[in-house]
Amino acid sequence: MKNIVLFGPPGAGKGTQAALLKEKHNLVHISTGDVFRNHIKNKTELGKLAKSYINEGKLVPDEVTIDLLKNEVEKFSNANGFVFDGFPRTLAQAQALDVFLEKKGETIKGMLSLEVPEDVLVQRILERGKTSGRTDDANEAKIRSRFGEYEQKTAVLKKYYQSQKKYFKVDGVGTLQEVAERLSNILDNL
Ligand code: AMP
Repeated sequence: MKNIVLFGPPGAGKGTQAALLKEKHNLVHISTGDVFRNHIKNKTELGKLAKSYINEGKLVPDEVTIDLLKNEVEKFSNANGFVFDGFPRTLAQAQALDVFLEKKGETIKGMLSLEVPEDVLVQRILERGKTSGRTDDANEAKIRSRFGEYEQKTAVLKKYYQSQKKYFKVDGVGTLQEVAERLSNILDNL
């Protein structure tokens, strides 16, 4: 199975690119953010909990998020591979994912990291906020809080995957097609 982690700060284009990769490489796309938003829309208990974090631009606790991810993966027993979008976001999540996949005789083949300068990110998110309906996209304070979480808890994952020789840096600035092609070229060689 070709399992990859699509990595990058908020606004890097993970969701958009994951959707393109999914089509081209016949992968299952799992976005923990999307799964949380679905729970919020359906007003589940988990949705209520997640909302209190998401609205503050904070990460949802690991325990909840890891269980949610495992649950999603289990729904697709015949998958050709997964593109994980927005997961893992902490070291504990990355370690849990490795253990979980190993039990299935699987592994992460690569972590593809979209690199985009911060001022471009803020502009992109504010722009997206006009139409996405996402409350966490709508104001700069929440966006800054998400960057803070990223720097504090998520950025370390670069080292984690680097030490496993699975880290691939990708220029995330360009047209959708340009970025998609850069990612696809890496995926083809994994
Ligand atoms: P995203 O759509 O990936 O930008 O995620 C939106 C929000 O959902 C994040 O700001 C977090 O509050 C929450 N979230 C999504 N994925 C995770 C994760 N792996 N760990 C913790 N919180 C997450």
